[in-house]
Amino acid sequence: MDATPRKSKFIKGATGDWEVVIGMEVHAQVNTKAKLFSGASTAFGGEANSHVALVDAAMPGMLPVINAECVRQAVRTGLGLNAKINLKSVFDRKNYFYPDLPQGYQISQYKSPIVGEGEVAVDLADGETVRIGIERLHLEQDAGKSLHDQNPTMSLVDLNRAGVALMEIVSKPDLRSADEAKAFVAKMRSILRYLGTCDGDMEKGNLRADVNVSVRKPGAALTTRCEIKNVNSIRFIGQAIEHEARRQIEIIEDGGEIVQETRLFDPDKGETRSMRTKEEAHDYRYFPDPDLLPLELSPALVADLQRSLPELPDQKKFRFMRDYALSVYDADVLVAERETAEYFEAVVMGSPASAPRDAKLTANWVINELGGRLNKEGGDIAAGPVTAAQLGAILDLIADGTISGKIAKEVFEIVWAEGGDPRTIVEQRGLKQVTDVAALEKLVDDILAKHPDKVADAKANPKAIGWFVGQVMKVSAGKANPQAVNDLLKARLGI
Ligand code: MN
Repeated sequence: MDATPRKSKFIKGATGDWEVVIGMEVHAQVNTKAKLFSGASTAFGGEANSHVALVDAAMPGMLPVINAECVRQAVRTGLGLNAKINLKSVFDRKNYFYPDLPQGYQISQYKSPIVGEGEVAVDLADGETVRIGIERLHLEQDAGKSLHDQNPTMSLVDLNRAGVALMEIVSKPDLRSADEAKAFVAKMRSILRYLGTCDGDMEKGNLRADVNVSVRKPGAALTTRCEIKNVNSIRFIGQAIEHEARRQIEIIEDGGEIVQETRLFDPDKGETRSMRTKEEAHDYRYFPDPDLLPLELSPALVADLQRSLPELPDQKKFRFMRDYALSVYDADVLVAERETAEYFEAVVMGSPASAPRDAKLTANWVINELGGRLNKEGGDIAAGPVTAAQLGAILDLIADGTISGKIAKEVFEIVWAEGGDPRTIVEQRGLKQVTDVAALEKLVDDILAKHPDKVADAKANPKAIGWFVGQVMKVSAGKANPQAVNDLLKARLGI
């Protein structure tokens, strides 16, 4: 990937600049109905231990059977990450004491993962795009959950999650700042949601990241890293990296050494703390699971899945920029969520019988008015209180001069709160823009007569005409057509 140090990302220490090197291991729960090796349900929130097959409970003699849909989802994800699909992969046992995985080992993939190297383009807030390498993606089982707060003397266990399929997606150590890492996870989440291979719900833990952080003098070799385990929000990922990088810089500058270890992020304190010294791969005694044959995929299956991939965020973004002449920023915001992109397009395209609507105006309304409102009050754009047809109708009223942009915001408020057809609302509530010249002339003449000093100003400096437009808009309660008012004023003032 890009090996050139990105200067603007450096952190200042007492001894000069430091470069932060970050790699991620994203655990994404595969979107399927059944677990990776059993038919038990993956539904969230069931009664404890109600979604547990004998395989998940590791009863003697039970054999795992691979869920073909999990395999297809992993391949789709690999394709979406522009990655190499390995036609042969192997499941291994990762031996470790898991109090909430009764097998006593996790079935994972070690030397031969189902997906190999790939790449993701990550757009940053400053307009820069960085390309982040993907090292691999493998399938593995999730563990159950130990409950320590349900009984005063015992720990209980809920195995509903035990055996649920996870994709572990490992990035190369290509990220150079907390912001890059946050943008990477957001992009990854967006791609997974477009593909429908993971719902990306970080609150439920369906997407979580282990973050590997090390620091070095710019251009120096990689140094010892610490791994921050299971961070489950994009904001926390940023905070954890900021804190961890500073902690390491201070230790090294004070003459100390970084110990390779696993750390936890404490969101209340905003800091990381040691959990355990990090194991090496050989501690896990990996070996191929004798209960499972190597997984072999046919090239036809991969080709089939490739053909059925949906349009992904990057493709959609470029198409929006090309077809609708949108800015990079607008396109980025609109494509981040598939539903938002689809809503935008539904508004622009309108009905097959009508001409497309103004894309820039539509983008502004979807991003600022609707997006702002949804951010503030919550809700889902697809099920939201203002449908694409309703917003389209508001934009049509602006386009045909029935209402001004200002009144349009009022109509939007009414539709948001009460629903209804925008054109009917405008008619029934008398919100129509006044374009009738006789009516406007009277308003304009009144204002001009009251302010002879300002008239002189405007004649000397035509820009001062804006003040008069504002006054007329005010007395007309926003209903005067600003363009018509402007024209009239110019005629009256002879400018
Ligand atoms: Mn893992």
